[in-house]
Amino acid sequence: MSRKAIIVPKGQRAKSRDGSPWIFSNEIRMDPAAKALAPGSVVNVRGEDGRSLGTGYFNPKSLIAIRLLAPDCDAVIDAGFFEERLGRALALRRTIYDKPYYRLCHAEGDGLPGLVIDRFDDTLTVQTGTAGMERQVEAIAAALEKLLSPKTVILRNDTPSRALEGLDAYVRILKGEGRRIAVEENGARYIADLTEGQKTGWYYDQRDNRAFIARLAKGKTVLDAYSYTGGFGILAAKSGAQEVVCLDSSAPALALAEQSARANGVKITPVKSDVFEELERLKAAAESFDIVLADPPPFVKSKKDLEPGAKAYRKLARLAADVTAPGGLLMVASCSHNIPPERFAQECAQGLMRAGRRAALIHQAGAGPDHPVHPLLPESAYLKALVYALD
Ligand code: SAH
Repeated sequence: MSRKAIIVPKGQRAKSRDGSPWIFSNEIRMDPAAKALAPGSVVNVRGEDGRSLGTGYFNPKSLIAIRLLAPDCDAVIDAGFFEERLGRALALRRTIYDKPYYRLCHAEGDGLPGLVIDRFDDTLTVQTGTAGMERQVEAIAAALEKLLSPKTVILRNDTPSRALEGLDAYVRILKGEGRRIAVEENGARYIADLTEGQKTGWYYDQRDNRAFIARLAKGKTVLDAYSYTGGFGILAAKSGAQEVVCLDSSAPALALAEQSARANGVKITPVKSDVFEELERLKAAAESFDIVLADPPPFVKSKKDLEPGAKAYRKLARLAADVTAPGGLLMVASCSHNIPPERFAQECAQGLMRAGRRAALIHQAGAGPDHPVHPLLPESAYLKALVYALD
């Protein structure tokens, strides 16, 4: 059976977007035959003149109608294809890290739009975010088997963004059992819960920023706000911080943070509270910390949340500065890809000014190198972390 072709009419796709793996629904000829295709179908993409734009998968229901997988038409998308792409992703991680703990696949950045895989030694969490990748789960599992023969594979298909692709949310163990596992990172050992925990169970994206903060933490008091399972706080404690408070609204996350702290022979103080409320309370009680970290969930979930979300970052920077001791350090992070980095920096600066603090930006960083981005989709670099030295 020959593969259906989707036509991109002449002049529709701007030259500047040539090479981008995304083709939007307004760029293609959405004829009845195209509309009738099952979401996630693999298609050939051609110009009206017949020229090839590549092989991709198509979802008539999605704004990003096509995500390209290969530059030529009729590319075979099977377990062998995934083995080749994931093999490259694996080789890159092996170049970067000497331990098998990392994001193994970061979607478009690894040439596999819609696919995220985190590796915890012999355990993998796989997340498909699009109908196209959802249809390839078996081929992906076969490729992973060949490359790594993992003991456990967990499908964490419960991200809210799946709804945009018409997909439901579920968590399923494809292979093995394991739920709680150990993560080794920056010389610390953490416990992660891969089925119940947030996202894929662990936030590898902050690895380098955790190391940066830990280097400055010796002898300091640290407030790790939005701590989750203690990624920042535990490493700071291990690096000699005098006191570490982990603040989060999730009791299970804090329980794991305490367990992980014990496993590293350090102590953290868990506080279960809303961060904004706790910061106000600390301010009223005139309490402060040498290092304050604020790594909240995304405040700008979609473009329409930009203004209220931007305001929330400004408020967070202000309140966090209020509890940062004179001469202290403040890190504010955003994992919203819908707020541009300049805007985020501007809001943080405003917040610091409103707190009446003079600040110098000493460090700006995104996610680590196991989160590569496609060079034509820089907006998909979602993580921004700014570290300020305050007077
Ligand atoms: N810094 C963490 C990741 C933070 S993820 C790390 O390095 O791993 C965001 C965290 O914010 C989650 O653990 C979530 O439970 C918590 N959270 C969300 N809303 C909150 C609120 N209003 N107050 C306190 N914590 C909140």
